[in-house]
Amino acid sequence: MRTMVILVLLMVGTAAAAQEGPAERLWDLYKQGRFEDVVREGKVELTTGEATAQVNLAVGRALVDLERYDEGLIYLETTVRMDPSRSWIYAWAKVYLGAAHYQAGRPDEAKQAWIQARDCAATRNATRNAVNNLKILGLAESYDGWKTFTTEHFQFRYSPNLTEFDGTAYARRHEEAYETITAWFGGGPTGAITFFVWADYQEALDAGLPPLGFARPEQNIVHAAADQTVGHEMTHVIAYHALEPANAVGLINEGTAVYHDQTGRDQLARARQALQQSPDPVVEVATAALWEDWSLLPGEISYPVGGAWVKVLLDKGGKDKFLQFFRDQGLAHAREVYGPQLQTWLAEFDAALYGPE
Ligand SMILES: [Zn+2]
Repeated sequence: MRTMVILVLLMVGTAAAAQEGPAERLWDLYKQGRFEDVVREGKVELTTGEATAQVNLAVGRALVDLERYDEGLIYLETTVRMDPSRSWIYAWAKVYLGAAHYQAGRPDEAKQAWIQARDCAATRNATRNAVNNLKILGLAESYDGWKTFTTEHFQFRYSPNLTEFDGTAYARRHEEAYETITAWFGGGPTGAITFFVWADYQEALDAGLPPLGFARPEQNIVHAAADQTVGHEMTHVIAYHALEPANAVGLINEGTAVYHDQTGRDQLARARQALQQSPDPVVEVATAALWEDWSLLPGEISYPVGGAWVKVLLDKGGKDKFLQFFRDQGLAHAREVYGPQLQTWLAEFDAALYGPE
């Protein structure tokens, strides 16, 4: 389900954009997440023989949301046939067809459906949704020149613009890190991680992707620049699958990825250096405050702070407690797991971070 939420998140808003007859009630149910009801009532509506493309769309979408992909395809294909003018109804049917095919393990069919959703340019949100899926999942035409290199736990996709790059050595280092990190977490994803390696930060931005690097753990996907640390992004994917955190918080989630970046760097020293070198004067931010609001410090400071703080929790509280705590990464849960000593650790850490040498 989580994957579907990501793929089709933008749809709920547009559902209400145009309504007519019986579809209106179905969209109301749909917006309430009552997918079973949409399917049941929609199917009754369809027996009248006067059902519209919208009714088929509502039923098809609800079935896909219920992870009944092949059943959903029938209604979505019908929707497409009933909307020859290729309006927003056609566009969203194609977006959902793409999602259904992708979830069912048919990326080529997904690609085709999303390209059709994009190219009909019927409505901005459907177009944007299709474009984003094509880009993030590596299905857009712009990936046609990328090389694929498959290893035991990864499918690497290498940008054609990489220079002086040894793809075999890169893959070997990542496999080694994967072994180390999955052993630490006691598990990882069941399938391979698709790992896109861009020549640099700018190349991905120019291609319309979010700033590198980032992981989509629900989909086993990483987009990274070639010069990123080996362990950071894959840690996001591994930790997500091994521990299934219900509440992820920047300080802990990013801090854990930094802790496992496999560089062995002293993150407290890096954080202090970043504070000293900051072009703008940095107001002292208590780590407890950063825990509640990850945006309080710029990334070049907050990331090493997170890594250093995770190390404190592990050194002082031990790994078992940390793994227990990781499922709900909020400060309140940390106080429950670690007790009153947490306050002392935080005070000592802030002194080490902001105090004199
Ligand atoms: Zn990260």
